[in-house]
Amino acid sequence: MRYHNITKDDMLNGDGLRVVLWVSGCSHHCPECQNPVTWDPKEGLLFGEKEKEELFTELAKPYISGITFSGGDPLHAANEAEILALAKDIRSRFPGKTIWMYTGYDWEYVKTREVARWIDVLVDGPYKKDLRDTQLHWRGSSNQHVIEVPESLASGKMVLHCA
Ligand code: SF4
Repeated sequence: MRYHNITKDDMLNGDGLRVVLWVSGCSHHCPECQNPVTWDPKEGLLFGEKEKEELFTELAKPYISGITFSGGDPLHAANEAEILALAKDIRSRFPGKTIWMYTGYDWEYVKTREVARWIDVLVDGPYKKDLRDTQLHWRGSSNQHVIEVPESLASGKMVLHCA
């Protein structure tokens, strides 16, 4: 897996102050995507042990609410297995921290993936420029949802984190 950035004390990609991993690779190619530089999975830097430790150091800080996986798409074929392993590792090391994920895939697809069982909140779906709404919380267009994942999996219907 490759990545473009790790941002710290981030307030724009989920509740509280978070560490955000911006992975490389996205096949959705949404028109007017704000991050087209992240589309190529071969671009960016190799994600290795040093980067993992960097994330863990942030997550160990008491004021950090959790981690957000973004990109790019964490569920791109080049990323999904490593993101799954990372989410499991974070869940066992930092059980009190939340894990958020942004993906261009819809909930109907994501809920069938093993990684869904390790995510607290998912922002799903491609960015649709015609549905852009700057008033929305944590999402760019109104087709996307901010989903409480454990509650949605348990109930069998989508439970929203916020409208
Ligand atoms: S899913 Fe996200 S990163 Fe991928 S093209 Fe769409 S807006 Fe850009």
